[in-house]
Amino acid sequence: MARTLPNVIVTGTPGVGKTSHCELLAERTGLKHISINDVVKTRECHEGWDDEYQSWVVDEDKLLDAIEDEVKQGGCILDWHACDLFPKSWIDLVVVLRTDTATLYDRLSARNYNETKLQENIDSEIMEVLLQEARESYDEEIVVELQSTSAEELDTNIDRIEAWLTQWKENNGSSTEAA
Ligand code: ADP
Repeated sequence: MARTLPNVIVTGTPGVGKTSHCELLAERTGLKHISINDVVKTRECHEGWDDEYQSWVVDEDKLLDAIEDEVKQGGCILDWHACDLFPKSWIDLVVVLRTDTATLYDRLSARNYNETKLQENIDSEIMEVLLQEARESYDEEIVVELQSTSAEELDTNIDRIEAWLTQWKENNGSSTEAA
């Protein structure tokens, strides 16, 4: 069944601004913000807590099962620091948020990340890990890299994604009419 609303992934290193973008985008567009962190916790899609990495060990199959019905209906914004597990057929746009290392350092320090976790995330941002993951997992024309260092950039990014959504709806509507 064709989706009447698209699904969007908003991804990037922790601290780049995924939640801020998803919340604003959901408010402005009516799309549904699905925080994968919350799903992992509340629906117990994990195999326990990893003390070293200070995060849940995610059970990806269980996670996909938990969100499949909802996502297949369309109109979801998936908010997570990984993207390669979501089937290509589910996804219409992948937004990879980026920021500079000094900004990321400040944002993650404010969260009291320990030095190891902090450095790991800074390295991940420098090495463009999420951008590579997105480019390897999805068609290049649906992967968009956006800067998220300032409030102005946040606003501009939301405007851009909203404009993309309007266009997607128009394209989808016209393709339905033509069929
Ligand atoms: P993530 O969900 O990727 O971990 P958050 O959305 O929680 O990131 O943002 C981390 C912190 O950075 C928050 O304090 C948020 O207000 C701030 N922040 C995120 N994006 C921006 C931005 N574009 N401009 C200014 N501050 C931002």
